[in-house]
Amino acid sequence: MSLVVVGSVAYDGVETPHGRVERMLGGAATYISLAASFFTRPRLVGIVGDDFAEEDRQLLASRGVDLEGLERVPGKTFFWAGKYSADMNDRETLTTELNVFADFNPKLPESYRKEPYLLLGNIQPALQRSVRAQMNCLRLAGGDTMNFWIKDYREELLATIAEWDFLLINDSEARLLSGEANLRKAAPRILAMGPHTLVIKRGEYGAILFREDSYFIVPGYLLEDVFDPTGAGDCFAGGFIGYLAEQGFDLKSGRIGRSDLSRAVIYGSVMGSFCCERFGVDRFRELTRAEIDARFEEFRKFTSF
Ligand code: AMP
Repeated sequence: MSLVVVGSVAYDGVETPHGRVERMLGGAATYISLAASFFTRPRLVGIVGDDFAEEDRQLLASRGVDLEGLERVPGKTFFWAGKYSADMNDRETLTTELNVFADFNPKLPESYRKEPYLLLGNIQPALQRSVRAQMNCLRLAGGDTMNFWIKDYREELLATIAEWDFLLINDSEARLLSGEANLRKAAPRILAMGPHTLVIKRGEYGAILFREDSYFIVPGYLLEDVFDPTGAGDCFAGGFIGYLAEQGFDLKSGRIGRSDLSRAVIYGSVMGSFCCERFGVDRFRELTRAEIDARFEEFRKFTSF
């Protein structure tokens, strides 16, 4: 059973205290798909220009990512550049060139429409909504958003997430969306907007999974060196939904429940941590499932008492 992933496929320029890369493969859908590919078969929906390199396409294909839904049109691929602060907790966007992404109007290939799992990367809420409407047999759908949509497209965003099972956002976005500074108070307000499951990501401090009657807190993995945090949130999302897809998660059947969601949050954290170990997507070129599972066990050890 496969996972449909929608979002940006990009070239990124990134500067961190460890170095600078002018142009490398990036984009939310790229990171989500690569991370999820260790658990399930991602089927990507996105758009690139005719400058999109064959070797980048090959990398995705080599990880088993289905690229039938990756449209290629004349023009340039979306380009984003950012620079991180010394502690890497803040980043400044230097450039956003939408290029062909400005006209992205996702149309799902027929073969994608019956898939049970959907991860909507951070794009305009109306587009996220239209993708969800194109799917016929969903078991689990959710996604990500960002400050810009929360502030300037609020009504559209609320109508969109009302139809989602889960929402993954960072702490500042949760505060903005709920109007509550306290995360414990923010969570029920957001759950009342539609999703039954909320994951609030807290960067290096980990993440919290909230459901109506419970919460589960996971710390961040203590990396010795963070080379490049770009895409960590997307890789978290890829690990989270990828694991649930691998398990055949189906809330309606009641077969898999809360503990699987907790494990999914750990796998999300594991994939986010691997992402930071190299620049861009480089860590995923040689990562193995055995390394992923070993880090999952490490999480179990350092959180048990
Ligand atoms: P993250 O670090 O998880 O926020 O993801 C960073 C990725 O998001 C980069 O690879 C960028 O190419 C991509 N990105 C940055 N800005 C946007 C945007 N406005 N819309 C879609 N994707 C974006």
